[in-house]
Amino acid sequence: MKRAVFPGSFDPITNGHYDIIERGLKLFDEIILAIGVNADKKYMFSLEQRQQFIEDAFKGEPKIKVKTYEGLTVDFCIKENADFILRGLRNPADFEFEKAIAHTNRKLQKIETVFLLTSSGKSYISSSIVRDVIRNNGDYTLLVPDAVRV
Ligand code: ADP
Repeated sequence: MKRAVFPGSFDPITNGHYDIIERGLKLFDEIILAIGVNADKKYMFSLEQRQQFIEDAFKGEPKIKVKTYEGLTVDFCIKENADFILRGLRNPADFEFEKAIAHTNRKLQKIETVFLLTSSGKSYISSSIVRDVIRNNGDYTLLVPDAVRV
């Protein structure tokens, strides 16, 4: 069984995440959407809200599981019996950041990171831009799955 963990903050899930996950479903038998819990980070949405948005977005998709985790992503992968980490790449900055993390993860555990390039037209979307649009009463619905409503 090819199982991947797609880790992230998902504050909130965006059409960019959604696209990578949907395309990842063609590569893996199961994808665990793993919401990282970081006590030092300030989130716009609570853990429960972020989890609910994701669960609603993938309702009826049996290959998707939604979980939360604390600590190292690789330790969570071992616990969940996942051999792969799935990540998206938007731009050179993502590449540099992700490269260091992927190398570190492979040093720590034998886990391969699989990168999918963002679809054209979605590379500008980020959770932080969505939060900014929400804070300023803009039409955020164009940037997120229908499940995300505030
Ligand atoms: P983190 O806090 O770990 O950066 P995010 O929720 O911001 O978590 O992102 C999780 C993953 O989703 C990362 O691999 C990121 O590159 C990817 N991602 C986010 N937005 C997009 C997008 N628009 N297109 C492709 N990948 C994306």
